[in-house]
Amino acid sequence: MRKIMFIILDGVGDKPCKELGGKTPLEVAETPNLDRLAREGVCGSVRISEKPPESDEGHLALFGYNLKKHYPGRGPIEAAGVGLTLQRGDVAFRANMATVDERMIIVDRRAGRIETTEPFAKKANGMEIDGVKFLLKAGNAHRMALVMRGPGLSDKISNTDPHEEGKAVLASEPLDGSDNAKLTARLLNEFLSKTHEMFDAMPENQERIARKMKPANQILTRGAGYYRPIPPFKNKYKLKACCVTGGGLYLGLGRLMGMKPLEAIGATGDAKTDIQCKLTTAMRGLKQYDFAYVHIKGTDIFGHDGDANGKRRFIEKVDRSMPVLHSFDGVIVVTADHSTPCVLKDHSSDPVPIVISRGLERDRISRFSESACALGSLGRIEARDVMPAVLRLAGSTNL
Ligand code: ZN
Ligand code: ZN
Repeated sequence: MRKIMFIILDGVGDKPCKELGGKTPLEVAETPNLDRLAREGVCGSVRISEKPPESDEGHLALFGYNLKKHYPGRGPIEAAGVGLTLQRGDVAFRANMATVDERMIIVDRRAGRIETTEPFAKKANGMEIDGVKFLLKAGNAHRMALVMRGPGLSDKISNTDPHEEGKAVLASEPLDGSDNAKLTARLLNEFLSKTHEMFDAMPENQERIARKMKPANQILTRGAGYYRPIPPFKNKYKLKACCVTGGGLYLGLGRLMGMKPLEAIGATGDAKTDIQCKLTTAMRGLKQYDFAYVHIKGTDIFGHDGDANGKRRFIEKVDRSMPVLHSFDGVIVVTADHSTPCVLKDHSSDPVPIVISRGLERDRISRFSESACALGSLGRIEARDVMPAVLRLAGSTNL
């Protein structure tokens, strides 16, 4: 069978925009390369889910995972993204470093836009309370991941992050009557209060205060998730897979599916300039692997900003970086994990366009946009139909 490059333009789907004369960013963008992919393949329109999906949900649905059965929660995905290796039964959280005053009121949810929480994470990492181990790792800037490891833990506990400055840090509460939830909430609260004192006393914070910076003295947690491994992509599809993503959530998703993360060599770290580098990295990876997942984030960011012209320009930028793909002789899929309409500045459940290019079939569509792809021969499909269609068109016999 042919090799497969699966490109996700995060949130690229949109609704008609006033500033674009009632068209979507994809409809007005000049995209000769995406249009060529449409001409050389089959198009359709994918319904990701009934409710507006989060990115992690949209991705897992596209890759054929049943969310009800396999969605691990945001915490484990973020933890995998910062490089924590999870074990079955771990409870993982998204965390961030904040500044609180002596009454435990949140003064700054990002600890004065701290550059790194590394010394704090190192200091608290590995702490044990009543036989439960706490693993803490720094992510980007104020972001961190926290994992609780031990017997009898539950993710049915509430967030300690009130999501608003000027409010007090919340105590985590059990969300059901189980002993496991009570235990987990109690130990988490104890850990958060111990680390608060520990951080306050650290010389790094004395120094921050002396330099009129806000101390990094409180971890806030949310998105608890109980980790159980999900079926590896390789077992599901008999494909050796790699991924080329930025950091965080998308890297975590790739890792949890068992994909090999490839570093985009020559990347500048700026998601908006690294597209060609990501594509060539994926092409190189596909010499060794059967399937490459490539994630491009910018489209979603412009959607959240409500910047229709910016989104159009970004799509054109993606398109301009695509000529490198002409020398790739495998199947190329381009689609999205959800729509992020500029008018909503948020995700929606609107269907997303898909092209499966250079496989066994062609249709008459010659343009990559929501409206054009909807007329393609794939028609309106569900997220779970995507991988079977891709495998069929790539000539796989593992169906
Ligand atoms: Zn997304
Ligand atoms: Zn988004």
